[in-house]
Amino acid sequence: MIRLGFDNSYRRLPARFFAEVEPARAAAPRLLAFNRPLARELRLDVDTVEAAAAMLFSGNTLAADAEPIALAYAGHQFANFVPQLGDGRAVLLGELIDTAGVRRDVQLKGSGPTPFSRRGDGRAALGPVLREYIVSEAMHALGVPTTRSLAAVSTGETVRRDGMLPGAVLTRVAASHIRIGTFQYFAARQDGEALKLLADHVIERHYPQLVAAPRPYLALVEAVAARQAALVARWMHVGFIHGVMNTDNMAVSGETIDYGPCAFLDAYDPAKVFSSIDHAGRYAFANQPAIAQWNLARFAETLLDLIDTDTTAAIAAATKVIEAFAQNFERHWQGGMRAKIGLAGTEPGDAALVEELLAAMHEGKADYTLTFRHLCDAALDPRADEEVSALFDNATAFNAWAANWRARLASDPQTPTARAQAMRRTNPLFIPRNHQVEQAIVAAEQGDLGPFERLTSTLAHPFEDQPNAADLTHPPAPHERVTQTFCGT
Ligand code: AMP
Ligand code: MG
Repeated sequence: MIRLGFDNSYRRLPARFFAEVEPARAAAPRLLAFNRPLARELRLDVDTVEAAAAMLFSGNTLAADAEPIALAYAGHQFANFVPQLGDGRAVLLGELIDTAGVRRDVQLKGSGPTPFSRRGDGRAALGPVLREYIVSEAMHALGVPTTRSLAAVSTGETVRRDGMLPGAVLTRVAASHIRIGTFQYFAARQDGEALKLLADHVIERHYPQLVAAPRPYLALVEAVAARQAALVARWMHVGFIHGVMNTDNMAVSGETIDYGPCAFLDAYDPAKVFSSIDHAGRYAFANQPAIAQWNLARFAETLLDLIDTDTTAAIAAATKVIEAFAQNFERHWQGGMRAKIGLAGTEPGDAALVEELLAAMHEGKADYTLTFRHLCDAALDPRADEEVSALFDNATAFNAWAANWRARLASDPQTPTARAQAMRRTNPLFIPRNHQVEQAIVAAEQGDLGPFERLTSTLAHPFEDQPNAADLTHPPAPHERVTQTFCGT
Protein backbone atom coordinates (compact mmCIF):
# COMPACT_ATOMS: atom_id res chain seq x y z
CA MET A 1 0.00 0.00 0.00
CA ILE A 2 1.30 3.42 -0.95
CA ARG A 3 2.46 5.91 1.68
CA LEU A 4 2.84 9.59 0.78
CA GLY A 5 4.75 10.74 3.87
CA PHE A 6 1.90 12.53 5.64
CA ASP A 7 2.36 14.13 9.07
CA ASN A 8 -1.02 15.41 10.17
CA SER A 9 -0.75 18.22 12.71
CA TYR A 10 -4.33 19.48 12.29
CA ARG A 11 -5.63 15.99 13.01
CA ARG A 12 -3.90 16.21 16.39
CA LEU A 13 -6.02 19.20 17.43
CA PRO A 14 -9.19 18.43 19.46
CA ALA A 15 -11.95 16.45 17.75
CA ARG A 16 -14.27 19.47 17.54
CA PHE A 17 -11.96 21.06 14.93
CA PHE A 18 -12.98 18.60 12.20
CA ALA A 19 -14.99 15.55 11.22
CA GLU A 20 -13.44 12.31 10.10
CA VAL A 21 -14.74 11.46 6.66
CA GLU A 22 -14.08 8.94 3.91
CA PRO A 23 -13.91 10.32 0.38
CA ALA A 24 -16.54 8.86 -1.93
CA ARG A 25 -15.51 6.41 -4.66
CA ALA A 26 -15.62 7.69 -8.22
CA ALA A 27 -17.16 5.39 -10.84
CA ALA A 28 -14.45 5.72 -13.46
CA PRO A 29 -11.62 8.02 -12.42
CA ARG A 30 -9.37 9.33 -15.16
CA LEU A 31 -6.32 11.56 -14.65
CA LEU A 32 -6.65 14.85 -16.55
CA ALA A 33 -3.70 16.76 -15.16
CA PHE A 34 -0.83 16.03 -12.83
CA ASN A 35 1.56 18.74 -11.67
CA ARG A 36 4.96 17.03 -11.65
CA PRO A 37 7.02 20.04 -10.54
CA LEU A 38 4.69 20.54 -7.57
CA ALA A 39 4.82 16.82 -6.77
CA ARG A 40 8.62 17.04 -6.65
CA GLU A 41 8.39 20.10 -4.41
CA LEU A 42 6.21 17.99 -2.08
CA ARG A 43 8.91 15.30 -2.05
CA LEU A 44 6.56 12.73 -3.52
CA ASP A 45 7.91 9.76 -5.44
CA VAL A 46 6.72 11.36 -8.66
CA ASP A 47 6.57 8.37 -11.02
CA THR A 48 4.94 6.05 -8.51
CA VAL A 49 2.40 8.68 -7.52
CA GLU A 50 1.64 9.61 -11.12
CA ALA A 51 1.01 5.95 -11.99
CA ALA A 52 -1.56 5.76 -9.17
CA ALA A 53 -2.81 9.34 -9.55
CA ALA A 54 -6.29 8.63 -10.94
CA MET A 55 -7.04 6.43 -7.93
CA LEU A 56 -5.22 8.54 -5.32
CA PHE A 57 -6.61 11.89 -6.40
CA SER A 58 -10.19 10.78 -6.87
CA GLY A 59 -10.21 9.39 -3.33
CA ASN A 60 -10.75 5.84 -4.60
CA THR A 61 -7.46 4.71 -3.07
CA LEU A 62 -6.38 6.16 0.25
CA ALA A 63 -2.67 6.34 1.02
CA ALA A 64 -1.88 4.25 4.09
CA ASP A 65 -0.86 7.36 6.04
CA ALA A 66 -3.82 9.54 4.95
CA GLU A 67 -6.17 10.58 7.77
CA PRO A 68 -9.04 12.21 5.86
CA ILE A 69 -10.92 14.96 7.66
CA ALA A 70 -13.32 17.78 6.78
CA LEU A 71 -12.50 21.03 8.61
CA ALA A 72 -15.02 22.99 10.65
CA TYR A 73 -15.34 26.71 9.92
CA ALA A 74 -17.87 29.53 9.86
CA GLY A 75 -17.88 32.74 7.85
CA HIS A 76 -19.42 35.97 6.75
CA GLN A 77 -20.88 35.43 3.30
CA PHE A 78 -21.63 38.79 1.69
CA ALA A 79 -21.55 40.27 5.21
CA ASN A 80 -24.06 37.76 6.65
CA PHE A 81 -22.64 35.58 9.39
CA VAL A 82 -23.14 31.83 9.00
CA PRO A 83 -22.01 30.08 12.21
CA GLN A 84 -21.39 26.77 10.49
CA LEU A 85 -20.04 26.22 7.00
CA GLY A 86 -17.09 23.81 6.98
CA ASP A 87 -15.63 21.64 4.23
CA GLY A 88 -18.81 20.56 2.50
CA ARG A 89 -17.12 19.19 -0.58
CA ALA A 90 -13.50 18.92 0.46
CA VAL A 91 -11.42 16.43 2.41
CA LEU A 92 -7.98 17.08 3.85
CA LEU A 93 -5.95 13.92 3.21
CA GLY A 94 -2.96 15.01 5.23
CA GLU A 95 0.06 17.31 5.42
CA LEU A 96 3.43 16.98 3.74
CA ILE A 97 6.66 18.78 4.54
CA ASP A 98 8.01 20.18 1.26
CA THR A 99 11.58 20.59 0.03
CA ALA A 100 11.78 24.01 1.70
CA GLY A 101 10.66 22.54 5.03
CA VAL A 102 7.19 24.10 4.73
CA ARG A 103 4.14 22.12 5.88
CA ARG A 104 1.52 21.86 3.10
CA ASP A 105 -2.05 20.54 3.15
CA VAL A 106 -3.13 18.09 0.46
CA GLN A 107 -6.89 18.30 -0.01
CA LEU A 108 -9.39 16.70 -2.35
CA LYS A 109 -12.12 19.06 -3.52
CA GLY A 110 -15.27 17.47 -4.93
CA SER A 111 -14.81 14.03 -3.38
CA GLY A 112 -18.29 13.60 -1.93
CA PRO A 113 -20.45 14.69 0.98
CA THR A 114 -19.19 15.42 4.49
CA PRO A 115 -20.99 16.27 7.74
CA PHE A 116 -20.66 19.90 6.61
CA SER A 117 -22.36 19.48 3.23
CA ARG A 118 -25.69 20.96 4.36
CA ARG A 119 -27.85 20.69 1.24
CA GLY A 120 -24.91 20.32 -1.17
CA ASP A 121 -23.86 17.14 -2.95
CA GLY A 122 -20.18 17.39 -2.03
CA ARG A 123 -19.23 17.18 -5.70
CA ALA A 124 -17.49 19.40 -8.20
CA ALA A 125 -18.04 19.81 -11.92
CA LEU A 126 -15.23 19.47 -14.44
CA GLY A 127 -15.37 23.11 -15.58
CA PRO A 128 -14.71 24.76 -12.21
CA VAL A 129 -12.05 22.15 -11.39
CA LEU A 130 -10.10 22.95 -14.55
CA ARG A 131 -10.70 26.64 -13.97
CA GLU A 132 -9.15 26.47 -10.50
CA TYR A 133 -6.26 24.40 -11.87
CA ILE A 134 -5.54 26.92 -14.63
CA VAL A 135 -5.97 30.09 -12.60
CA SER A 136 -4.21 28.98 -9.39
CA GLU A 137 -1.18 27.75 -11.32
CA ALA A 138 -1.17 30.96 -13.38
CA MET A 139 -1.26 33.03 -10.20
CA HIS A 140 1.71 31.10 -8.86
CA ALA A 141 3.67 31.76 -12.05
CA LEU A 142 2.73 35.44 -11.78
CA GLY A 143 4.36 35.50 -8.36
CA VAL A 144 1.14 35.79 -6.36
CA PRO A 145 0.92 33.69 -3.15
CA THR A 146 -1.73 31.05 -3.78
CA THR A 147 -2.97 27.57 -3.11
CA ARG A 148 -1.74 25.22 -5.82
CA SER A 149 -3.22 22.46 -7.94
CA LEU A 150 -1.57 19.06 -7.82
CA ALA A 151 -4.03 17.03 -9.89
CA ALA A 152 -7.37 17.03 -11.67
CA VAL A 153 -9.27 13.78 -12.12
CA SER A 154 -12.59 13.25 -13.89
CA THR A 155 -14.91 10.94 -12.02
CA GLY A 156 -16.86 9.39 -14.88
CA GLU A 157 -20.02 10.56 -13.08
CA THR A 158 -22.33 13.46 -13.67
CA VAL A 159 -23.25 16.19 -11.21
CA ARG A 160 -26.49 18.13 -11.23
CA ARG A 161 -26.03 21.90 -11.50
CA ASP A 162 -28.16 23.92 -13.94
CA GLY A 163 -28.11 20.82 -16.06
CA MET A 164 -26.09 17.61 -15.80
CA LEU A 165 -22.34 18.16 -15.99
CA PRO A 166 -19.31 15.88 -15.95
CA GLY A 167 -17.86 15.50 -12.44
CA ALA A 168 -14.25 15.94 -11.35
CA VAL A 169 -12.03 16.20 -8.28
CA LEU A 170 -9.29 18.78 -7.77
CA THR A 171 -6.33 18.12 -5.49
CA ARG A 172 -5.48 21.40 -3.83
CA VAL A 173 -2.25 22.11 -1.99
CA ALA A 174 -2.20 24.92 0.56
CA ALA A 175 0.10 26.23 3.29
CA SER A 176 -3.00 25.48 5.36
CA HIS A 177 -6.76 25.67 4.95
CA ILE A 178 -7.23 27.74 8.10
CA ARG A 179 -9.42 30.73 7.33
CA ILE A 180 -10.67 33.76 9.20
CA GLY A 181 -13.87 31.72 9.29
CA THR A 182 -12.10 28.99 11.27
CA PHE A 183 -11.52 31.49 14.08
CA GLN A 184 -15.09 32.72 13.75
CA TYR A 185 -16.40 29.18 14.17
CA PHE A 186 -14.96 28.94 17.67
CA ALA A 187 -15.66 32.57 18.57
CA ALA A 188 -19.34 32.01 17.74
CA ARG A 189 -19.31 29.10 20.20
CA GLN A 190 -17.46 31.16 22.83
CA ASP A 191 -14.86 28.41 22.86
CA GLY A 192 -11.87 30.32 24.21
CA GLU A 193 -9.81 27.18 24.66
CA ALA A 194 -10.14 26.24 20.99
CA LEU A 195 -9.36 29.80 19.90
CA LYS A 196 -6.11 29.75 21.82
CA LEU A 197 -5.15 26.34 20.45
CA LEU A 198 -5.96 27.52 16.92
CA ALA A 199 -4.06 30.79 17.28
CA ASP A 200 -1.03 28.95 18.69
CA HIS A 201 -1.21 26.43 15.85
CA VAL A 202 -1.31 29.25 13.29
CA ILE A 203 1.56 31.12 14.92
CA GLU A 204 3.73 28.03 15.04
CA ARG A 205 2.85 27.04 11.49
CA HIS A 206 2.73 30.35 9.61
CA TYR A 207 4.33 32.99 11.83
CA PRO A 208 6.94 31.17 13.98
CA GLN A 209 8.82 34.44 14.52
CA LEU A 210 5.91 35.54 16.75
CA VAL A 211 6.20 32.71 19.28
CA ALA A 212 8.30 34.91 21.56
CA ALA A 213 6.54 38.21 20.78
CA PRO A 214 5.47 40.20 23.85
CA ARG A 215 1.84 40.30 22.63
CA PRO A 216 1.69 37.30 20.27
CA TYR A 217 -2.05 37.46 19.46
CA LEU A 218 -2.00 41.15 18.62
CA ALA A 219 1.14 40.48 16.60
CA LEU A 220 -0.76 37.69 14.84
CA VAL A 221 -3.49 40.08 13.70
CA GLU A 222 -0.79 42.47 12.53
CA ALA A 223 1.09 39.76 10.65
CA VAL A 224 -2.02 38.36 8.95
CA ALA A 225 -3.03 41.90 7.99
CA ALA A 226 0.44 42.59 6.58
CA ARG A 227 0.27 39.54 4.33
CA GLN A 228 -3.25 40.40 3.18
CA ALA A 229 -2.19 43.94 2.31
CA ALA A 230 0.64 42.59 0.17
CA LEU A 231 -1.60 39.92 -1.34
CA VAL A 232 -4.48 42.15 -2.40
CA ALA A 233 -2.00 44.64 -3.90
CA ARG A 234 -0.44 41.81 -5.93
CA TRP A 235 -3.89 40.76 -7.14
CA MET A 236 -4.60 44.24 -8.34
CA HIS A 237 -1.21 44.64 -10.01
CA VAL A 238 -2.14 41.76 -12.30
CA GLY A 239 -5.81 42.71 -12.67
CA PHE A 240 -7.26 39.88 -10.58
CA ILE A 241 -10.74 40.01 -9.09
CA HIS A 242 -11.27 37.34 -6.44
CA GLY A 243 -15.03 37.61 -6.69
CA VAL A 244 -16.08 36.07 -3.38
CA MET A 245 -13.97 37.51 -0.56
CA ASN A 246 -16.09 36.06 2.22
CA THR A 247 -14.29 35.54 5.52
CA ASP A 248 -14.36 31.78 4.92
CA ASN A 249 -12.41 32.39 1.70
CA MET A 250 -9.56 34.32 3.27
CA ALA A 251 -6.69 32.11 4.42
CA VAL A 252 -4.69 33.31 7.42
CA SER A 253 -1.52 32.06 5.70
CA GLY A 254 -1.73 34.91 3.18
CA GLU A 255 -2.36 32.67 0.17
CA THR A 256 -5.11 33.32 -2.36
CA ILE A 257 -7.75 30.65 -1.80
CA ASP A 258 -11.00 29.63 -3.43
CA TYR A 259 -11.11 30.24 -7.14
CA GLY A 260 -14.85 30.35 -7.65
CA PRO A 261 -16.12 33.28 -9.67
CA CYS A 262 -12.70 34.93 -9.95
CA ALA A 263 -11.67 36.64 -13.18
CA PHE A 264 -9.02 38.91 -14.66
CA LEU A 265 -9.73 42.35 -16.04
CA ASP A 266 -9.50 42.73 -19.76
CA ALA A 267 -10.33 46.44 -20.20
CA TYR A 268 -9.49 48.39 -17.06
CA ASP A 269 -12.54 49.21 -14.95
CA PRO A 270 -12.18 49.72 -11.20
CA ALA A 271 -15.88 48.94 -10.64
CA LYS A 272 -15.72 45.65 -12.53
CA VAL A 273 -17.68 42.72 -11.10
CA PHE A 274 -17.99 39.31 -12.77
CA SER A 275 -19.67 37.17 -10.13
CA SER A 276 -23.29 36.39 -10.91
CA ILE A 277 -24.22 36.60 -7.23
CA ASP A 278 -22.44 39.89 -6.41
CA HIS A 279 -25.34 42.20 -7.17
CA ALA A 280 -24.18 45.09 -5.01
CA GLY A 281 -20.60 45.04 -6.28
CA ARG A 282 -19.29 44.25 -2.81
CA TYR A 283 -16.31 42.41 -4.29
CA ALA A 284 -15.63 44.73 -7.24
CA PHE A 285 -12.02 45.17 -8.37
CA ALA A 286 -11.25 48.40 -6.51
CA ASN A 287 -13.27 47.41 -3.45
CA GLN A 288 -10.95 44.53 -2.61
CA PRO A 289 -8.65 46.35 -0.16
CA ALA A 290 -11.62 47.74 1.79
CA ILE A 291 -13.14 44.27 1.99
CA ALA A 292 -9.88 42.68 3.10
CA GLN A 293 -9.76 45.27 5.87
CA TRP A 294 -13.37 44.53 6.84
CA ASN A 295 -12.55 40.81 6.98
CA LEU A 296 -9.48 41.48 9.11
CA ALA A 297 -11.61 43.41 11.58
CA ARG A 298 -13.79 40.29 11.89
CA PHE A 299 -10.59 38.28 12.48
CA ALA A 300 -9.39 40.67 15.19
CA GLU A 301 -12.76 40.45 16.94
CA THR A 302 -12.30 36.71 17.44
CA LEU A 303 -9.00 37.30 19.25
CA LEU A 304 -9.95 40.17 21.57
CA ASP A 305 -9.98 38.02 24.74
CA LEU A 306 -6.51 36.72 23.91
CA ILE A 307 -5.17 40.17 23.05
CA ASP A 308 -6.03 41.69 26.43
CA THR A 309 -8.20 40.72 29.42
CA ASP A 310 -9.31 44.37 29.43
CA THR A 311 -11.73 44.46 26.48
CA THR A 312 -11.49 48.22 25.97
CA ALA A 313 -7.70 47.98 25.75
CA ALA A 314 -7.95 44.99 23.39
CA ILE A 315 -10.32 46.86 21.08
CA ALA A 316 -8.09 49.93 21.06
CA ALA A 317 -4.98 47.90 20.21
CA ALA A 318 -6.74 45.85 17.52
CA THR A 319 -8.35 48.93 15.97
CA LYS A 320 -4.95 50.55 15.50
CA VAL A 321 -3.69 47.47 13.69
CA ILE A 322 -6.75 47.27 11.44
CA GLU A 323 -6.56 50.98 10.64
CA ALA A 324 -2.92 50.61 9.65
CA PHE A 325 -4.02 48.18 6.93
CA ALA A 326 -5.05 51.06 4.67
CA GLN A 327 -1.59 52.67 4.61
CA ASN A 328 0.08 49.26 4.33
CA PHE A 329 -2.01 48.36 1.36
CA GLU A 330 -1.35 51.74 -0.23
CA ARG A 331 2.41 51.31 0.19
CA HIS A 332 2.32 47.90 -1.55
CA TRP A 333 -0.03 49.13 -4.23
CA GLN A 334 2.05 52.21 -5.01
CA GLY A 335 5.31 50.28 -4.92
CA GLY A 336 4.04 47.77 -7.45
CA MET A 337 2.44 50.39 -9.68
CA ARG A 338 5.65 52.45 -9.74
CA ALA A 339 7.48 49.33 -10.89
CA LYS A 340 4.82 48.69 -13.53
CA ILE A 341 5.47 52.08 -15.11
CA GLY A 342 9.22 51.63 -14.80
CA LEU A 343 10.11 53.80 -11.85
CA ALA A 344 12.93 52.65 -9.58
CA GLY A 345 12.94 55.79 -7.45
CA THR A 346 10.14 57.67 -5.69
CA GLU A 347 9.01 61.25 -6.25
CA PRO A 348 6.03 63.11 -4.78
CA GLY A 349 3.97 63.14 -8.00
CA ASP A 350 4.26 59.39 -8.68
CA ALA A 351 0.94 58.37 -7.18
CA ALA A 352 -0.83 60.99 -9.29
CA LEU A 353 1.02 59.80 -12.39
CA VAL A 354 -0.27 56.27 -11.78
CA GLU A 355 -3.79 57.56 -11.17
CA GLU A 356 -3.75 59.57 -14.40
CA LEU A 357 -2.74 56.54 -16.41
CA LEU A 358 -5.48 54.42 -14.82
CA ALA A 359 -8.04 57.16 -15.46
CA ALA A 360 -7.00 57.32 -19.12
CA MET A 361 -7.21 53.53 -19.39
CA HIS A 362 -10.66 53.49 -17.83
CA GLU A 363 -11.88 56.25 -20.11
CA GLY A 364 -10.28 54.64 -23.19
CA LYS A 365 -11.32 51.05 -22.24
CA ALA A 366 -7.70 49.99 -22.62
CA ASP A 367 -6.66 46.41 -21.94
CA TYR A 368 -5.02 46.32 -18.50
CA THR A 369 -2.40 43.67 -19.22
CA LEU A 370 -1.41 44.81 -22.70
CA THR A 371 -1.17 48.50 -21.78
CA PHE A 372 1.52 47.80 -19.19
CA ARG A 373 3.25 45.20 -21.36
CA HIS A 374 3.47 47.57 -24.31
CA LEU A 375 4.71 50.32 -22.00
CA CYS A 376 7.83 48.15 -21.55
CA ASP A 377 8.65 48.76 -25.23
CA ALA A 378 7.68 52.41 -25.02
CA ALA A 379 10.10 52.84 -22.11
CA LEU A 380 12.89 51.90 -24.47
CA ASP A 381 11.71 53.64 -27.61
CA PRO A 382 9.07 56.39 -27.84
CA ARG A 383 8.06 55.08 -31.27
CA ALA A 384 6.39 52.20 -29.45
CA ASP A 385 3.90 54.65 -27.90
CA GLU A 386 1.75 53.87 -30.92
CA GLU A 387 1.41 50.24 -29.83
CA VAL A 388 0.07 51.49 -26.53
CA SER A 389 -2.21 54.21 -27.83
CA ALA A 390 -3.76 51.71 -30.27
CA LEU A 391 -5.23 49.95 -27.21
CA PHE A 392 -7.32 53.01 -26.31
CA ASP A 393 -10.71 53.92 -27.75
CA ASN A 394 -9.53 57.50 -27.57
CA ALA A 395 -5.84 58.03 -26.92
CA THR A 396 -5.80 61.80 -26.26
CA ALA A 397 -5.48 61.37 -22.51
CA PHE A 398 -2.88 58.66 -22.90
CA ASN A 399 -0.77 60.75 -25.25
CA ALA A 400 -0.76 63.62 -22.79
CA TRP A 401 0.14 61.18 -20.03
CA ALA A 402 3.01 59.70 -22.06
CA ALA A 403 4.68 63.11 -22.28
CA ASN A 404 4.50 63.53 -18.49
CA TRP A 405 5.72 59.98 -18.00
CA ARG A 406 8.80 60.55 -20.19
CA ALA A 407 9.62 63.72 -18.31
CA ARG A 408 9.43 61.73 -15.07
CA LEU A 409 11.56 58.86 -16.45
CA ALA A 410 14.30 61.35 -17.27
CA SER A 411 14.89 61.94 -13.57
CA ASP A 412 14.74 58.26 -12.61
CA PRO A 413 18.05 56.48 -11.97
CA GLN A 414 17.72 53.39 -14.24
CA THR A 415 19.06 53.13 -17.78
CA PRO A 416 16.36 52.60 -20.41
CA THR A 417 17.54 49.05 -21.08
CA ALA A 418 17.56 48.04 -17.42
CA ARG A 419 14.18 49.75 -16.99
CA ALA A 420 12.59 47.91 -19.91
CA GLN A 421 13.95 44.59 -18.62
CA ALA A 422 12.65 45.24 -15.11
CA MET A 423 9.25 46.23 -16.52
CA ARG A 424 9.04 43.01 -18.51
CA ARG A 425 9.61 41.04 -15.32
CA THR A 426 6.73 42.77 -13.57
CA ASN A 427 4.20 43.27 -16.41
CA PRO A 428 3.05 39.87 -17.69
CA LEU A 429 2.17 39.23 -21.31
CA PHE A 430 0.00 36.23 -20.49
CA ILE A 431 -2.83 36.08 -17.96
CA PRO A 432 -5.65 33.53 -17.80
CA ARG A 433 -8.12 35.50 -19.86
CA ASN A 434 -11.68 34.53 -19.07
CA HIS A 435 -12.67 33.71 -22.64
CA GLN A 436 -9.64 31.47 -23.12
CA VAL A 437 -10.31 29.65 -19.86
CA GLU A 438 -13.91 29.12 -21.02
CA GLN A 439 -12.77 27.84 -24.41
CA ALA A 440 -10.35 25.39 -22.76
CA ILE A 441 -13.13 24.12 -20.49
CA VAL A 442 -15.63 23.67 -23.33
CA ALA A 443 -13.06 21.67 -25.30
CA ALA A 444 -12.24 19.53 -22.23
CA GLU A 445 -15.93 18.84 -21.68
CA GLN A 446 -15.98 17.47 -25.21
CA GLY A 447 -12.98 15.27 -24.49
CA ASP A 448 -10.24 17.49 -25.96
CA LEU A 449 -7.63 18.45 -23.34
CA GLY A 450 -5.38 20.12 -25.93
CA PRO A 451 -6.43 23.74 -25.29
CA PHE A 452 -6.27 23.20 -21.48
CA GLU A 453 -2.73 21.84 -21.72
CA ARG A 454 -1.62 24.59 -24.09
CA LEU A 455 -3.07 27.27 -21.83
CA THR A 456 -1.49 25.88 -18.64
CA SER A 457 1.92 25.42 -20.24
CA THR A 458 1.85 28.95 -21.71
CA LEU A 459 0.71 30.50 -18.44
CA ALA A 460 3.61 28.83 -16.62
CA HIS A 461 5.86 31.51 -18.21
CA PRO A 462 3.71 34.63 -18.19
CA PHE A 463 6.57 37.12 -18.54
CA GLU A 464 8.20 35.49 -21.57
CA ASP A 465 7.39 36.35 -25.15
CA GLN A 466 6.07 33.12 -26.60
CA PRO A 467 5.52 33.78 -30.31
CA ASN A 468 3.74 30.43 -30.81
CA ALA A 469 1.11 31.48 -28.31
CA ALA A 470 0.52 35.00 -29.65
CA ASP A 471 -3.21 34.25 -29.95
CA LEU A 472 -3.38 33.79 -26.17
CA THR A 473 -2.33 37.41 -25.60
CA HIS A 474 -5.44 38.72 -27.36
CA PRO A 475 -8.26 40.37 -25.45
CA PRO A 476 -11.65 38.86 -26.23
CA ALA A 477 -13.47 39.84 -29.40
CA PRO A 478 -16.88 41.35 -28.53
CA HIS A 479 -18.62 37.98 -29.07
CA GLU A 480 -16.05 36.18 -26.87
CA ARG A 481 -16.39 38.51 -23.91
CA VAL A 482 -17.22 36.73 -20.63
CA THR A 483 -19.50 39.02 -18.64
CA GLN A 484 -20.43 36.73 -15.76
CA THR A 485 -18.76 34.03 -13.72
CA PHE A 486 -20.33 31.51 -11.35
CA CYS A 487 -19.48 30.06 -7.95
CA GLY A 488 -20.38 26.37 -7.71
CA THR A 489 -17.15 24.43 -7.99
P1 AMP B 1 -17.46 28.38 -1.48
O1 AMP B 1 -18.47 29.09 -2.30
O2 AMP B 1 -16.63 27.40 -2.26
O3 AMP B 1 -16.61 29.27 -0.67
O4 AMP B 1 -18.30 27.46 -0.47
C1 AMP B 1 -19.06 27.98 0.59
C2 AMP B 1 -19.56 26.84 1.45
O5 AMP B 1 -20.47 26.01 0.74
C3 AMP B 1 -18.48 25.91 1.97
O6 AMP B 1 -18.83 25.48 3.26
C4 AMP B 1 -18.53 24.76 0.99
O7 AMP B 1 -18.01 23.57 1.53
C5 AMP B 1 -20.03 24.67 0.73
N1 AMP B 1 -20.32 24.07 -0.59
C6 AMP B 1 -20.22 24.65 -1.79
N2 AMP B 1 -20.56 23.80 -2.77
C7 AMP B 1 -20.90 22.65 -2.19
C8 AMP B 1 -21.36 21.38 -2.66
N3 AMP B 1 -21.53 21.13 -3.96
N4 AMP B 1 -21.63 20.43 -1.75
C9 AMP B 1 -21.46 20.66 -0.43
N5 AMP B 1 -21.05 21.82 0.08
C10 AMP B 1 -20.76 22.81 -0.78
MG1 MG C 1 -14.91 28.62 0.21
